[in-house]
Amino acid sequence: MEIVQTKNNHLYKEGGEKEYGCICKNCGTKFIFQEHEGCVPRCIDPKPEQCTIHCPNCKQIIRYSECTELKSKEDNFAFHRVW
Ligand SMILES: [Zn+2]
Repeated sequence: MEIVQTKNNHLYKEGGEKEYGCICKNCGTKFIFQEHEGCVPRCIDPKPEQCTIHCPNCKQIIRYSECTELKSKEDNFAFHRVW
């Protein structure tokens, strides 16, 4: 048997938790976080503008709408590599 390409698509199922990549505008720190890690309002369908996350370095408050949603493992890799 030979694995040609390993993927983790099952980790990014539709309806699963969203993952975001973000670069802090204040200090330039790059980080990836999952939706539940930030401050999400308790409503049925919170908008990215209503959700915030603190920069792990300088504690700047950043809206989810300023971050990039990572929809697949490829997005995740791209975020790690390109930026
Ligand atoms: Zn920062």
